[in-house]
Amino acid sequence: MISRLKSEALFAEALKHIPGGVNSPVRAFRAVGGQPFFVESAKGARVKTVDGDELIDYVGTWGPAILGHAHPKIIAAVKAAADHGTSFGIPNPFEVTMAKLIKSLVPSVDKVRLCNSGTEACMSAIRLARGFTKRDKFIKFDGCYHGHADCLLVKAGSGALTFGHPDSAGVPADFAKHTLVLPFNDPKSVSAAFAANRGQIAAVIIEPVPGNAGLYLPKPGYLEFLRKITAEQGTVLIFDEVMTGFRLAPGGAQERFGVRPDLSCFGKIIGGGLPVGAFGGRGDIMDFLAPLGPVYQAGTLSGNPLAMAAGIAALDELRSSRRKEALTDSKGKQVSLLTSAATFADDAYAHLEQLGAQLEAGLRDAAKSAGVAVTFNRCGSMFCGYFTSEPVWNLGDAMKSDRERFKKFFHGMLAEGVYLAPSQFEAGFISTAHAPADIEATVKAAAKVMKTL
Ligand SMILES: *Cc1c(COP(=O)(O)O)cnc(C)c1O
Repeated sequence: MISRLKSEALFAEALKHIPGGVNSPVRAFRAVGGQPFFVESAKGARVKTVDGDELIDYVGTWGPAILGHAHPKIIAAVKAAADHGTSFGIPNPFEVTMAKLIKSLVPSVDKVRLCNSGTEACMSAIRLARGFTKRDKFIKFDGCYHGHADCLLVKAGSGALTFGHPDSAGVPADFAKHTLVLPFNDPKSVSAAFAANRGQIAAVIIEPVPGNAGLYLPKPGYLEFLRKITAEQGTVLIFDEVMTGFRLAPGGAQERFGVRPDLSCFGKIIGGGLPVGAFGGRGDIMDFLAPLGPVYQAGTLSGNPLAMAAGIAALDELRSSRRKEALTDSKGKQVSLLTSAATFADDAYAHLEQLGAQLEAGLRDAAKSAGVAVTFNRCGSMFCGYFTSEPVWNLGDAMKSDRERFKKFFHGMLAEGVYLAPSQFEAGFISTAHAPADIEATVKAAAKVMKTL
């Protein structure tokens, strides 16, 4: 392993000026021990540290980098947009293009409001659902993270789990008292909550494929069950697709699992690496937002032209990877790219699926030959290996994983040049910039490190 002197010096300096030296807690490596490295640049599937280390990256800036880092089209789009000004505070054409793009990819979205982060998107979606239904309570699931708004910061996954404050200090009990937290993948508890709170539940918010406590999948029928019971109860079903949107399929988890929510939250990929969030869905609900309706929501930098340009380039690139014939109609005529979801990328997703399968097979093999118990969960290009022999379907299962083993594994992989998220309770992300050779190198490293655990 090469020296980390520059990173160490920077971190020592950062600690003097920034709480914990970081601007988002998981970056501090507290869950795995040691200190974070500083990144000088990132390109494709690799990040380069200030110490000159080049690492194969599976964090992908926590989800946005589905095309890899510094994709030339995104960089060009941002530079071109910057020449025209960085913010206007009055409508710009990019916002309309972005809204149409999101709608064309996600059929459940009639209208969409753009904001600046996933946190804002989820906070605003909850407010909107409450305003629309004139009810206060809502259901969330333990291990699901929906950003750090007060009412949502209850049993909220990775950051909170790692630091042992599942309920953050500074959140008055009164602010969280309308938040009902239930176990994931457990329909009975949902039925019971509705029975006990008849006519009072504004929303059910869920990560359809939770990726903030590692990664686990919804059991067959679970999302359909939530769709049915919320429809019966006049409750707004919110899919938080900040992580899964445009990643698990062009239309996100809702496309992959065939369930249509009332509202959806987005972020990460739609910013192409710049700060963006969005929430959208049924027109009758969305029209409750100001200036049309009584639910207030706003943002000085919302719809920012640089962020929009980056996000549009990202979605456009995902789309244009589609096979040529899909871009023409039956008579061979070019079809508009902005009219229907059917014209969007399969090939990027097929490629991600292949890489994911390669990684899954390789890591399972490596664990088996080393005699290490690993439960490997994967959905497309998202994955998590838990150090436990038991299946993981919810937070309780995830908590059974051997975190000491994960620490050793994490540092072992880092020494081999592979950067995984510095916590057992995070998902890994594959990008279209990963080559089969990168996956092979990763598997080889894992086989070596597993033997030392
Ligand atoms: C990352 C994430 C958020 C929060 O988004 P920020 O942009 O970090 O505020 C919300 N929900 C989910 C599912 C996420 O993964």
